[in-house]
Amino acid sequence: MLQPGLMMDRPLMISGILEHSAAQFGDVEIVSRETHGPLFRYTYADCAGRARQLANALAALGLKQGSAVGSIAWNNHRHLEAYYAVSGSGMVMHTCNPRLHPQQLIYIINHAADEVMLFDSTFAPLIKGIAAHCPQVKHWLCLSDAVNLPAIDGVKTIAYEDLIAPHSSQFEWPEFDERTGAALCYTSGTTGNPKGALYSHRAIVLNALTGCLPGVLDISPQQTILPVVPMFHINAWCIPYAAPIGGAKLVLPGPRLDGASLYELIEAEKVTLSAGVPTIWQALMGHIEQNGLKFSTMKYTAVGGSAMPAALIAKFSDVYGVQVRHGWGMTETTAVATMTSMTSAELALPAADQHALVAKQGKTVFGIQIKVVDEHGQTLPRDGTSQGELMVRGQWIIQSYFKGEKSPLIDGWFPTGDIATIDAKGLMQIRDRTKDVIKTGGEWISSIDLENAAVGHPSVAMAAVIGIKHPKWDERPLLFIVRKPGQALEKEEILTFLATRVAKWWVPDDVVFLESLPVGGTGKVQKNDLRKDYGGVFS
Ligand code: AMP
Repeated sequence: MLQPGLMMDRPLMISGILEHSAAQFGDVEIVSRETHGPLFRYTYADCAGRARQLANALAALGLKQGSAVGSIAWNNHRHLEAYYAVSGSGMVMHTCNPRLHPQQLIYIINHAADEVMLFDSTFAPLIKGIAAHCPQVKHWLCLSDAVNLPAIDGVKTIAYEDLIAPHSSQFEWPEFDERTGAALCYTSGTTGNPKGALYSHRAIVLNALTGCLPGVLDISPQQTILPVVPMFHINAWCIPYAAPIGGAKLVLPGPRLDGASLYELIEAEKVTLSAGVPTIWQALMGHIEQNGLKFSTMKYTAVGGSAMPAALIAKFSDVYGVQVRHGWGMTETTAVATMTSMTSAELALPAADQHALVAKQGKTVFGIQIKVVDEHGQTLPRDGTSQGELMVRGQWIIQSYFKGEKSPLIDGWFPTGDIATIDAKGLMQIRDRTKDVIKTGGEWISSIDLENAAVGHPSVAMAAVIGIKHPKWDERPLLFIVRKPGQALEKEEILTFLATRVAKWWVPDDVVFLESLPVGGTGKVQKNDLRKDYGGVFS
C-alpha cells in the first residue's frame, strides 16, 4: 500500500513570492520606467507594502475572491503591484493585450467579467472607445498619480495613487487551494474569438521556480533582469514572479521599447539578463551597430515567441559577448516550456555549431514533456527529421480554456498547432505553425527556415515568408524583405544568396521589399496581414 508522505501540505501561493522577497531581498531594487517623469526606483519591501495597500483598496471597492481585475498596461511598478495584490487576494489578474482589435478587447473584458480595469494613461483613447461596451467594469483605475490622470469623456477615472493612499500597508494574505485561478491571458485569436488561459497559483509558482534554474534563466541576487516581454503577454514569461523568488534586481522598461531606449536602460541599470521577442533584439542590434556601441554588463538574453535567426544569435554572441537563451512557449503553457541548455561538450564545439544548436528551440525544462505526432496521432521517432504536430503536457500546461466547453486535450496532451522535430537528445526544433507551413508539390517548406536564411544576408533587417496559391504546386513561397538602412539589395541578389543556403525548390518565387513588416502586440510578424494584402495567386 502507498505510504502517505508526512510533510506539511502548504499551498504554493503567489502572495508567498512577494513576502519572501520582501523578507529576504527587502533592499533589492526595482526600477521602473514611467509613462510620465523620470525613472522610479524602490525595493521589494516597498513593493510588498504598496501591493498590500492595493489589496486593501480592492477589498474596500467591494471586490471578492474570484473577482476579475483587468489591466491594459506597460511593464511598470504599479502593474507589478497589481499582479500581487489581485492574485494574492484570491482574485484573477486579467492582463489584456492593448494591441488586440478593440472589438476583441471588448470581447475578452466582458468574457472575463472584469470588474475593475487598470490602465496606463497611454491607453486613454482606447479606453474612451471601449468603456461604454464593457458594462461589468465598475471602476477605471489609471496607473498614475492625480497629476497625470487623463480626463476621458464619459468615463469616471480614478488615479491609482489616490485609490491606495488612504489604505494600510498591512494585509493578511488569504490562504486557499493552490489550484485556484490567479491570472488570465487570452490568445491573440487570429481566427475566431480569443481564448482564455487561466493560470493557477500552483502553475505560476512552479513555472517561476523552474525559470530561476541556472540552465533556464539563471535568476539569482547577482542578476539584474530586464523583461522586455510585456506583462500582458503570458505573464512576461513569469519573470515578475521568478525575479523576486531568486532575488534579482528587476528593471521594468515601461512604454519605451525602441532600441535606443532599451540600450540606455540596459547600460544605466547594469542589466545582466534580458528577455524578449526577436523583433525587439533586431531593433536593439540595429541601434548598437549604427552607433558603434557595446554592452558593458549584459551576459544573457532570453529569446522566444518566434524563432531567433542563427545570424542574430551569432552576432550577439561573437561580436557582443551576449549568450542567447532561446526558448519556446505559448499562452497555453504559462511561460517557458523548452529552453536551450548546452552541455560542456557542446560548449566546446566551434561557434557556428553552437549557434546552430541555439537556433533550435531547446529541451524541455523540468515538469514538461513533449512529443511529435503524425496526422493520425501516432508518435513519431525522436530522430531530428520526422516532423509532425508538437504535443505538450506538464504541471503548467492548459487543461481547458476559460469557460470553454470542450477540452482541447488529446489523450491528456495539448496539441500546440506547431510543427516540430525532436532529436535523440531531446532537442526540439519548431519548423513552422501548421497554418504557416508552405505545402508545395506534396512537400513542406518551413517558412521559419527560409526567413532565418534570408536574415543571414548582411543587407536584410527583417524577413517574412508566406505561401501563395499556385495552380501547379498548390503553394509557393513569397518572401518579404525589409532592407537595413542605406542598403540597395535587389531581388536577384537575395534569391541567389538563398539558392546557396536552401534546397532549390525552396527558393521563393518572388520578393516584395517593404519599409516595415506588420508586427502585432506581442512583437510577432502578422502573417495574416501579409496574406490579406499579398495573398493572391502565382501564375
Ligand atoms: P503566443 O501564444 O501568442 O505566445 O504564441 C505561441 C506561438 O509562438 C507558438 O505556438 C509558436 O508558434 C510561436 N513560438 C513561440 N516561441 C517560439 C520560438 N522560439 N520559435 C518559433 N516559434 C515560437
